Amino acid sequence: MSSSTSASARSGAGLADLPVTALPGVGKAAGARLAQLGLSTVEDLLFHLPARYEDRTRCTPLAALVAGQRALGQGSVLAVEQRGGRRPHLTAWLADGPGQLLLRFFHPTSRHRRLLTVGTQVSVYGEVRWGAQGREMVHPDIAGPAEPSLLESSLTPVYPTTAGLSVKRLRQFVRGALEHVDALPDLLPPALCEEGLSLAQALRLLHAPALAVQPTAARKRLALEELLAHQAALAAARRASRRERAHPCRQANLVARFLAQLPFQPTASQQAAIAEIREDLMRDWPMRRLLQGDVGSGKTLVAAAAALIVLEEGYQVALMAPTELLARQHYKTFAAWFAGLGIPVLALLGTARSTQDARRRLAQGEVALAVGTQALVQDAVAFDRLALAIADEQHRFGVRQRQTLQGKGRIATHWLAMSATPIPRTLAQSLYADLDVSILAERPPGRLPVTTVALSQTRRTEVIDRVRQACAGGAKAYWVCPLIEEGESDLVSAQALHQELSRALPGLAVGLIHGRMSPAEKESVMAGFMDGVVQVLVATTVIEVGVDVPSANLLVIEHAECLGLAQLHQLRGRVGRGREQGHCVLLYRAPLGAVAHARLACLRETDDGFEVARQDLALRGAGELFGDRQSGLPHFRVADLAADAELLPRLRQAADDLPPEVAEALARRWLNARRGPAEV
Ligand code: ADP
Ligand code: MG
Repeated sequence: MSSSTSASARSGAGLADLPVTALPGVGKAAGARLAQLGLSTVEDLLFHLPARYEDRTRCTPLAALVAGQRALGQGSVLAVEQRGGRRPHLTAWLADGPGQLLLRFFHPTSRHRRLLTVGTQVSVYGEVRWGAQGREMVHPDIAGPAEPSLLESSLTPVYPTTAGLSVKRLRQFVRGALEHVDALPDLLPPALCEEGLSLAQALRLLHAPALAVQPTAARKRLALEELLAHQAALAAARRASRRERAHPCRQANLVARFLAQLPFQPTASQQAAIAEIREDLMRDWPMRRLLQGDVGSGKTLVAAAAALIVLEEGYQVALMAPTELLARQHYKTFAAWFAGLGIPVLALLGTARSTQDARRRLAQGEVALAVGTQALVQDAVAFDRLALAIADEQHRFGVRQRQTLQGKGRIATHWLAMSATPIPRTLAQSLYADLDVSILAERPPGRLPVTTVALSQTRRTEVIDRVRQACAGGAKAYWVCPLIEEGESDLVSAQALHQELSRALPGLAVGLIHGRMSPAEKESVMAGFMDGVVQVLVATTVIEVGVDVPSANLLVIEHAECLGLAQLHQLRGRVGRGREQGHCVLLYRAPLGAVAHARLACLRETDDGFEVARQDLALRGAGELFGDRQSGLPHFRVADLAADAELLPRLRQAADDLPPEVAEALARRWLNARRGPAEV
């Protein structure tokens, strides 16, 4: 340890500057391993939190060990058997009176051989399983009579780590780091510290819980700080965007003409959203708005109105959709809507040469509205005077894509994000504190809520009969099946299903659409379904987002027990988009687990996306609700939206009031993305 770093540690001048190698026992090699985990300073180590805990605080009698659980046991060695050869193997019987446990070691070390001799007392910790000869542990941790006991006085933290660095050593390093924990500045405003835990106390509890109890309050203390860091960053982004310059757009003649030519009246929600957007666009700083609305609430119309306000000023607009199917649908919709207004629309779908001409026309400003997929963010796509970028189903896009598209204007572009991920309003306002939020709270008038029933696979023939009858009466049906080919799992494949239904419904035209078809094929199948040439459409989840065929009114979802609530709700949104009553049949394979049962019950009870989201949040936690990294939502290290969402509203105000240097220190602590992927 150099004298300057130890001096800075003593004075507490910043653990963020104290390298891990300043800790006793951390040499160059260990330092390199830690760096792979994104841990280069003592502060980093302190914030490297356990993924879980092991309970080594009590010893379980061997007869009471339960298969599948990790436990600590103790006994004397009763018998030992060794096998040599290419795959040396050591087994030992441990007994504590009534109970016995078999220990297995493959490639045993000399320490194992020394410890495991008849009559020796050892303690072991590991996962119990049932083998041919009863309870056993494979490669447990083991301690002999002369070694430090495995029995601990507190829960044992298990850290995410990387190859070449054992959890045991990492634990030692963290213990070393904890010596410095009092030097960490506490960044949480005192008013927020309800539990009264200081940061140092919280970290001590998390790394070395005093009792065999999960340190919930300590986790909450850190979650609060992490969420505050995010809120502060969003508040800063919001302030920064106010200082940018965008093109103000003040006309609304085209919008008025457009709305007047529509065959229906915009809903009050749509009108309110359009008015909010209009006000945003009049300003000379960029709009940053999220338009939320349940499936079928009519977001596309609002996007069209926003586009027209900007187009009227002679600027360009880009509309990006996550799938080609949806982009093509939007292209058709906009082309039809805008034809009467004399506004040409351009589709930009692939990376191929075929788009060369489209790109040229955009760059030269010949076309004002481009509708496309991610192809829009390619380097080769340039705009002459882009002023508004719109992302449909924005949760499907990454931050990078959104920034790239926004960056294609000569000055800051206005930004409109649309999403059907139904998040409760207060949560949305906090999670997207850098955006303004408009909500479409109603569906167009005359829409009947989709009726939903859940039926066991055993009633499949009845469901097929129902489809036959409905289609004979002029209905159109989707039959959704989660996978496309036989053998990928035991799920019914779409292709097999297509054959089955074609056979079972001789008088009807049964179509098939799945993700491995070419875009042109998909489009022609969709067109067939739209026009009624195809009456039953067997589909994978490619139709999940955005697809709008108002005349389709029956939807069957295969293996509904395997899908998440949010996804089921999205799929169900494919029907009930027109005047006719929509129906949804959830086919499941019995027996249903408790959670699957609760999901299907929820869908049967409500057709309201926000209610579905609330129940989803309660059933499985926010992490899953918002899905994987595609969700575009922040990924928290400690905070868990399901448990901590209620903290957010308080934090918003607190974030606005933070002194800038505290906000910066929080960002440095929580938001730098140095940490790499780690294995547990
Ligand atoms: P989503 O919010 O799911 O994107 P869409 O924008 O696709 O919904 O709209 C769903 C359907 O409702 C479309 O066919 C659209 O033309 C129609 N629609 C939108 N607004 C209205 C309205 N105010 N009255 C009647 N139909 C509407
Ligand atoms: Mg949509």
